[in-house]
Amino acid sequence: TDRVEDYEDIEGEEKVQTRASSVIVFVTAEAAPYSKTGGLGDVCGSLPIALAARGHRVMVVSPRYQHGTSENQKFACAVDLNCPTKLFCFGGVQEVGFFHEYRKGVDWVFVDHPSYHRPGNPYGDNYGGFGDNQFRFTLLCHAALEAPLVLPLGGFTYGEKCLFLANDWHAGLVPVLLAAKYRPHGVYKDARSILVIHNLAHQGVEAAITYNNLGLPPEWRAALEWVFPTWARTHALDTGEAVNFLKGAIVTADRILTVSQGYSWEITTSEGGYGLHELLYSRRSVLNGITNGIDVSEWDPSSDKHLDAHYSADDLSGKVRCKISLQKELDLPVRPECPLIGFIGRLDYQKGIDLIRLATPEILEDDVQFVMLGSGNPHYEDWMKATEVAYRDKFRGWVGFNVPISHRITAGCDILLMPSMFEPCGLNQLYAMRYGTIPVVHCTGGLRDTVQHYNPYADEGHGEGTGWTFSPPTKENMLMALRFALQTYREYDSSWVGLMKRGMTSNFTWINAAIQYEQLFEWAFLDPPYTG
Ligand code: ADP
Repeated sequence: TDRVEDYEDIEGEEKVQTRASSVIVFVTAEAAPYSKTGGLGDVCGSLPIALAARGHRVMVVSPRYQHGTSENQKFACAVDLNCPTKLFCFGGVQEVGFFHEYRKGVDWVFVDHPSYHRPGNPYGDNYGGFGDNQFRFTLLCHAALEAPLVLPLGGFTYGEKCLFLANDWHAGLVPVLLAAKYRPHGVYKDARSILVIHNLAHQGVEAAITYNNLGLPPEWRAALEWVFPTWARTHALDTGEAVNFLKGAIVTADRILTVSQGYSWEITTSEGGYGLHELLYSRRSVLNGITNGIDVSEWDPSSDKHLDAHYSADDLSGKVRCKISLQKELDLPVRPECPLIGFIGRLDYQKGIDLIRLATPEILEDDVQFVMLGSGNPHYEDWMKATEVAYRDKFRGWVGFNVPISHRITAGCDILLMPSMFEPCGLNQLYAMRYGTIPVVHCTGGLRDTVQHYNPYADEGHGEGTGWTFSPPTKENMLMALRFALQTYREYDSSWVGLMKRGMTSNFTWINAAIQYEQLFEWAFLDPPYTG
């Protein structure tokens, strides 16, 4: 990012500003399609491609998971670079390998180590989170800092002048290592780091004693040290003294980014800061928010490979066929006129499942159908199964993680319910709008930034807005918003079509976000690096 230049676009009419290309290294626990449990995977699977398409050199470093299932196939095209690398942490030398696939302009680099080869998902299995996650993600961070120096990709290493995008706590040691281990020895002097916070609720907290394992100089202990609030204490850590990967990253990153502007403000408040708000507030001069985009080739109702019928804002007729197919697939009564409400997401406190649980009997008193897709907390899973038994012809609870069915629910439903308690960005509401499915959301974080509350009188009576928002998140407020939506669906046909079309034509492509990221890269290189 040394220079900014103007050039004429192909038609020769519009002036387009482009910035000089950067060398970018994403470090992430997930990158779709190789690995995904939520929005982190989606973002790290598509933003790198958007940046590469704009002329940047982009590498994504993530683990080479081998879960012993068909999921392994996703890594099948990645070849071993035969570059075994020694990393110094956890009391000795750890050896990792690197696999590589060049796809859609991006170098996808997979760190290989036996600790990534086990059944489950990237973080755990049916018995809970893996006990050695700190070790697994410490390895990822050390490996990611070696990758630009040692891997000859396309004939050349990435070199030292790169920009690390460290995503969430799993990559939290990247800025710390940069500041503590490399810069003091003159390596990566011109590199910068940006911490990207997708979810502040997960911070990578372990007992204080584990600091000695991380391969960091002793004098940097304070950067990671954390005495966490009483509410967060567990039996094993009941003195409250801990190391906190995300805290270390917040202290040492050159810049900090969240995945929406609303969330970047919320995390500086005691309400939304999960114990880190004061620290985040103190770094607010380098804190920004950029709303995620969506992969519009993967999520396109006019060509989606998971759908039986296709449609667009110009011809909506295929949507009702998607609804009928979904009702058949779920073995619900086939009733195209009956409003179909959907929910997709992790079954977690964050997603507002408690509100849904409370409200479901009242929702189902109405003449509606309701489908939920999700996995996570076993109590919520059991509740979904029991509700399905109790309301056989109105409710379906699909327990599991299933991408094709998530596309079919997004297309086949009329309304998407998203009452998240907090939501850093949220992708399902963006997918829903693109598929003409009207979101009803709690007005928080990225949901507030992306869903515009419906106003039937605006725009000379044509109406404005793309969904319904409610706040504070109570059962009554959620039911009221849902009832407004249902009444509009049933009685105001043209209003409903207007809502659908405005959502479908909203611009949530990655290009907008990528342009804002470029601005951020420029700022990162203009400022001096963090040195402690
Ligand atoms: P979060 O990252 O907090 O889980 P987001 O809304 O940002 O939430 O992203 C969730 C992503 O994961 C979306 O792509 C969504 O479709 C997907 N997803 C969540 N749960 C499931 C599921 N059970 N099956 C398939 N996809 C799911």
